Amino acid sequence: MSKLICIDAGHGGKDPGACGFGLKEADVVLKLAELVNQHFGCYNCSTTLTRNRNTSSSYPNGKEGLRKRIAYANAKGADFYLSLHCNAGKGSGFESYVAQPAPARTKSIQKIINDYILGFLKGHRIGSHGNASKNDTQAARGRIAVVRDTKMSAVLLECLFIDNPNENKLLKDTNFLDGLAKVIVQGTVSALGIEKK
Ligand SMILES: [Zn+2]
Repeated sequence: MSKLICIDAGHGGKDPGACGFGLKEADVVLKLAELVNQHFGCYNCSTTLTRNRNTSSSYPNGKEGLRKRIAYANAKGADFYLSLHCNAGKGSGFESYVAQPAPARTKSIQKIINDYILGFLKGHRIGSHGNASKNDTQAARGRIAVVRDTKMSAVLLECLFIDNPNENKLLKDTNFLDGLAKVIVQGTVSALGIEKK
């Protein structure tokens, strides 16, 4: 049976996520999620999204929305949970999070995806935000619910800083997002051993 990837666009509905220069994280990551979904179409796997343009309003702010997403992925029996976010707080670059502790396999998936993304970002002169591979004890006091409470391997990507002028410009650029989506998918299929159709 082909693997099922659960693509999670963070925030949504009444929760815009981080904001910068007129851009909302919820909108950026939804667009990115749709592009990621399209690129997975070339590979031998299935996908499901925790939210789309029509379901956004069913995800309330905060813990309840997160619980719904986790329950959704667990009920679907997804093989991998890919959560898409943008960072904020006057920094720059890319980083990703897994739970602590996380199985070696999850950490290895994280590393492979990071390497694909950082390779792409290098072409835009963007690097990592400190060490690219982080765990959730290094943020949110060890409670990034979507990487902790999902039953499958889960990685949360913080794709650039929405409040950084240079990175904000890139996040507004559909071509950039499409390129980013492509390497996210290439990294994921490489890490999970999923083949091209
Ligand atoms: Zn976020």
